[in-house]
Amino acid sequence: MRAEVKAEIEATGLRAGLATVLVGDDPASAVYVAGKIRACEEVGIASIHHQLLASVSQDEVAALIGELNGRADVSGILLQLPVPEHLDGQALTALIDPDKDVDGLTPISAGRLLQNRPGLRPCTPAGILELLDRHDVSLEGAEAVVVGRSDLVGKPVGVLLLHRNATVTMCHSRTRDLAATCRRADVLIAAVGRPRLVQGDWVKPGATVIDVGINRSDEGLVGDVDFAAAAERAALITPVPGGVGPMTIAMLLRNTLTAAAARTTAPRGAGSGV
Ligand code: NAD
Repeated sequence: MRAEVKAEIEATGLRAGLATVLVGDDPASAVYVAGKIRACEEVGIASIHHQLLASVSQDEVAALIGELNGRADVSGILLQLPVPEHLDGQALTALIDPDKDVDGLTPISAGRLLQNRPGLRPCTPAGILELLDRHDVSLEGAEAVVVGRSDLVGKPVGVLLLHRNATVTMCHSRTRDLAATCRRADVLIAAVGRPRLVQGDWVKPGATVIDVGINRSDEGLVGDVDFAAAAERAALITPVPGGVGPMTIAMLLRNTLTAAAARTTAPRGAGSGV
């Protein structure tokens, strides 16, 4: 997908720019943002990075987002979450122009997704759908079970699967018999943040398993699925690290290009309807 984005930029001569806003010095966030900037450079998307002090005020971040909304060279804006506790990350995210919302996390983007209207989709869920499509996983009428209901991953991936005519079950921390529900899944998606929560015998033989979890442990990064045991029953399974993580970045690049293309074809202010 990265190669495709790069080839498209070269072929069309489109100018795309991604503005990244990182508040504070959380090391994991810094690594994520650095990875996104590097990925942009590799495909020919310009990076406009803003590193802000942890002590910055809500108004100052809001003003920066307002400025980036107005800049013609910025096609996408990414506010790296979480922000320090004295800031309201959700309120700040909502200030991003929906047509530059390459993370797909503003309320407008969420509404467009829910109503299946054109719009920028959250990167991790969009990457999951791309993985499923590129491996010819049939979704029409399939039993899809999503474990986790966050606004970032669980809910949007559930909606995307619903729009593809899967029968979707959303599980969460209060779900009564998680194992039995997972065993029904033709497509099982784990987005929880609990190391190896999903055990091998929760996987229906022949199922497709997508592991979104990124958990730091003594053994390094592990997913939400017990990979070795699940791989014995699954027809297809994504590894951690690998799998969904790199796809998330690939989709960020794709979204940035989509946003840039929409800006060049739609009159400004008319609502580009990407
Ligand atoms: P979150 O903490 O916002 O949500 C977790 C969800 O899991 C909640 O809805 C909760 O109800 C559910 N849950 C918690 N305990 C449970 C249990 N015992 N049984 C069933 N459900 C339970 O997390 P998130 O932002 O959705 O992220 C989930 C995981 O995915 C994390 O490990 C995160 O690091 C990872 N993640 C990876 C990527 C990527 O690019 N690969 C992107 C985003 C998130």
